[in-house]
Amino acid sequence: MTARIIDGKALAADLIAKVAAEVGRLGKDYGLEPGLAVVLVGNNPASEIYVRSKSMKTVTAGMRSSLHKLPETITEDDLMQVVRQLNGDRAIHGVLVQQPLPPQIDPHKVIAAVDPAKDVDGFHPLNAGRLATGLPALAPCTPLSCIRLAKTVHASLSGLDAVVIGRSNIVGKPLAQLLLAENASVTVTHSKTRDLPAVARRADLLVVAVGRAGMVTRDWIKPGATVIDVGINRVAAERGRHRVEGDVAFAEAAEVAGALTPVPGGVGPMTIACLMLNTLRAACASAGLPEPDL
Ligand code: NAP
Repeated sequence: MTARIIDGKALAADLIAKVAAEVGRLGKDYGLEPGLAVVLVGNNPASEIYVRSKSMKTVTAGMRSSLHKLPETITEDDLMQVVRQLNGDRAIHGVLVQQPLPPQIDPHKVIAAVDPAKDVDGFHPLNAGRLATGLPALAPCTPLSCIRLAKTVHASLSGLDAVVIGRSNIVGKPLAQLLLAENASVTVTHSKTRDLPAVARRADLLVVAVGRAGMVTRDWIKPGATVIDVGINRVAAERGRHRVEGDVAFAEAAEVAGALTPVPGGVGPMTIACLMLNTLRAACASAGLPEPDL
């Protein structure tokens, strides 16, 4: 068997084009211009790349992009002040504070300081609680990306055996909630799970979010399963260079799986597209307009 490769890059471009069309319509009909503010603390090179990419896609989606670069040494109080100012800015509908943050800053405090209505990362406890209790919520973008990619293979996820490897607050846990909301039967696994390959092999839909290059090999995958690889790992390549690999051993997994996301070009670009969609949703909600069905 050779897996169908799920082209996250193309699917993301398609979603961003749809968001852009909707943004154009909102501007014409209501004079509404959705705006996303991204706060970047310090000079983490990976964060700088992510933030640049988010800002570029915001512009592609026709939205206002504002970037707030703050020094590595900023105090927690000063960062909170920036967040509060953005919460109160009527031109801004989404506020995102790029993680990781320097050690003097408690990330939980910062997440809790973002107005839940502008929490386009979906990390605020209020949104996490709403998601867990089945209420409308801004959900985290990476899990949303996984669901959208899985749905390009399965028209419905209802009744599927879904196994999630990883239980972080930003990926594994919210993804489990989204999968439950789709009526999948969900198993969440982690570093203490016993015989993880056997558990993974039960999955019709296997989502891997661990951060260990090539951990999931051929024998972890049920023939024909859909495999979504969230992992982003920098591994050494020739001549002192690095390349990015997922948590799934791609070549051998492609021989067993029914469908598989590549890394790069799978979950990553769709995650940014989902951020654009969340910003559009937040802007619509702020104006009392119905949510677009994209
Ligand atoms: P994280 O907070 O470090 O969580 C990793 C999870 O993997 C934990 O639940 C951990 O279990 C589990 N784990 C670690 N070693 C394991 C093992 N040997 N067997 C089974 N489970 C194991 O990571 P994260 O933030 O969720 O990110 C996971 C990966 O996804 C990273 O590579 C990250 O870069 C990538 N990522 C990609 C995107 C994207 O947009 N593409 C977005 C976010 C993250 P315990 O809880 O027991 O420690």
